[in-house]
Amino acid sequence: MKPAAKAVGCVQLFALKGLWLSAVFRGRGMADGSPLFAGRCAVLLTKHRKEQVIRPILEKAAGFQIIVEAGFDTDQFGAFTREISRPGSQLDAARLKAEKGMELAGTEIGIASEGSFDSHPLIPFVPWNVELVLLADQKEKLEICGRCANSETNYNHRMITSLEEAEKFARKAGFPEHWLALRPDNERHQSVLKDINTWEHLKDALRWGFAKSAVGKVFLETDMRAHANPTRMRNIQKAAEDLAEKIKQQCPQCASPGFSVTGVQKGLPCEECGCLTEEIKARVFTCKRCGFSREEKAAEREHAPAGRCQYCNP
Ligand SMILES: [Zn+2]
Ligand SMILES: [Zn+2]
Repeated sequence: MKPAAKAVGCVQLFALKGLWLSAVFRGRGMADGSPLFAGRCAVLLTKHRKEQVIRPILEKAAGFQIIVEAGFDTDQFGAFTREISRPGSQLDAARLKAEKGMELAGTEIGIASEGSFDSHPLIPFVPWNVELVLLADQKEKLEICGRCANSETNYNHRMITSLEEAEKFARKAGFPEHWLALRPDNERHQSVLKDINTWEHLKDALRWGFAKSAVGKVFLETDMRAHANPTRMRNIQKAAEDLAEKIKQQCPQCASPGFSVTGVQKGLPCEECGCLTEEIKARVFTCKRCGFSREEKAAEREHAPAGRCQYCNP
């Protein structure tokens, strides 16, 4: 009798433990994570320590676990220091990285980050950083992309002829917290020194560059790799936060995550003549999974100011 009673007790204990565990996981599911992603495994392909800012935000928002695949050279998909140019668009490059990560890790969710640096789309000479953090789910055929775009970047380069010039450039770039890269002669020279992150190292690099240069000049530039650039890392974090927000937005029809703005509708009527203006009337939300879409009023106002009307104010 005694062993049997013991066994029953054990079963009861397991049953109770199971109930308690499922309650805990249900509770977690309610608070954090999406039902589509909860309990699954995602891979982040990066060798530049992007997991520092991406992992905590996305694990909480999606409820999956992120493993890091750091053994692959992501510069094969394009390097900021121009050794390899990027294939296709910024989003294409992010997709390639996400797919490569899934292939290497054997997961069905891939996460990838891709950045670009250029001039501001409207204001010349103002640098512009666009960061994407992409989530690709092969099983659910779903793609959600977080984005951050702003001019908060130290992106810069200069031809240098002296130590003083180099010091001035370095201070402006936020060195040594922000690393630098250097080439002899010009930006196309085959030799490049990266990972310059101490003043001693910078002086050595300059000596090396000047000695190797045919024209007594070196090309000094900011290193835009995430682990070498805390300002860029902050923008990657903002793109991850944007992605987390999109994950939380569910489609009203199929409940898929990622129900986000895909376009705008112009045509707010003029307050004077009622003609349609170029002012934004509504934002369009679309579900990438079932195609359901919904318009939401972009602003409280029903009319555009007459100053914006091409008839009243041509
Ligand atoms: Zn849907
Ligand atoms: Zn008008």
